[in-house]
Amino acid sequence: MLSQDYIALEEKYGAHNYHPLPVVLAKGEGVFLWDVEGKRYYDFLSAYSAVNQGHCHPKIINTIAEQAKELTLTSRAFYNNKLGPYEKYITEFFGYEKVLPMNSGAEADETALKLCRRWAYDKKGIPENEAKIIVCLGNFHGRTITVISMSNDPDSYKGFGPYTPGFIKISYNDLNELEKALQDPNVAGFLVEPIQGEAGVVVPDEGYISKAYKMCKEKNVLFIADEVQTGLARTGKMLACEYENVKPDILILGKALSGGTMPISAVLADDEIMLVIKPGEHGSTFGGNPLACAVAVSALQVLKDEKLAENSERLGKIFREKLGKIKSGMVELVRGKGLLNAIVIKPSNGKEAWDVCLRMKENGLLAKPTHRHIIRFAPPLVITEEQIYEAVGIIEQSLLEINN
Ligand code: PLP
Repeated sequence: MLSQDYIALEEKYGAHNYHPLPVVLAKGEGVFLWDVEGKRYYDFLSAYSAVNQGHCHPKIINTIAEQAKELTLTSRAFYNNKLGPYEKYITEFFGYEKVLPMNSGAEADETALKLCRRWAYDKKGIPENEAKIIVCLGNFHGRTITVISMSNDPDSYKGFGPYTPGFIKISYNDLNELEKALQDPNVAGFLVEPIQGEAGVVVPDEGYISKAYKMCKEKNVLFIADEVQTGLARTGKMLACEYENVKPDILILGKALSGGTMPISAVLADDEIMLVIKPGEHGSTFGGNPLACAVAVSALQVLKDEKLAENSERLGKIFREKLGKIKSGMVELVRGKGLLNAIVIKPSNGKEAWDVCLRMKENGLLAKPTHRHIIRFAPPLVITEEQIYEAVGIIEQSLLEINN
């Protein structure tokens, strides 16, 4: 079968909830993907930053193969011999007392919201059902009903109401609005992405995260960081919050926690918060399964052993500098941190970000627009300096071809 045959199958039998670039992928290795016709591409999306360790990393794949032969799922009705060691490993890795394992990023966000609300009632003394959580305009935390109730993007929420109450929406990167919202004594938490990834890699002002954290502390409000996309070496530090020396009260991780091999997410917090949830009050059939636990340890080890945060920080600087030098009227702005970057595209002669992505695909590099005029560039963090130069060459060539 050819690419168009696979695309036709998806069109006919699959729900139309995505609008993919017309490329059908069959193989991945490191920074590269191959389509069913055998053409090779640079992957500059990394499955929305889930494949930070590179496609099919041999150590992670080996862990899967070995563990899959032993035990994959017991449910949490019983103990298993991988969960405890994983919990010890990840809590020591990030410096927390406890972890709660889940699967998708959205589930981990939901878990954090539940933890925050219960903490509000049991510890802070907010009257039952009155707790509020502050969130930011432009956020993206996933697709469940409660999570879209926090969104102000009509594509995410419109037509799916009624929505979950209890959220105060404020502008991102605006400490005055945060200050005002924090006056409400029923505020229990502030949920924030250290960089808004889906919004188009929106980087807040320096000091925003640390000042917001301090303001939350003054009001006994939990600072909850969604590092599902920014976490795990993507922005040049293991966690983006490290840039401002902030240790969130609740830390949400996902995506690259499995190196892109399976859905693994986690919520980390200290006992005072985590132990408000008692047996039977939260869980998931697959959360904390032995296969996932083994894979997550392996995925974290790869990030550390291969110094991928350092590589991301160093090559990110080079990448942005090179992108900034591209002489194309279509490049309005280059922004990002580490290897989480974006260019804002100025449409020209009826050509938009989508057309640029199609041309880059023809030239051997895959990326996807977000919010129509922004293209995110997030290659696997195992990329080399030489490969960055080659990739920038493809991006530049594509922009110049489109704009002529
Ligand atoms: N939180 C953030 C910051 C994200 O970027 C995403 C996905 O892009 C999610 C949560 C949702 O993760 P998932 O798609 O695994 O539910």
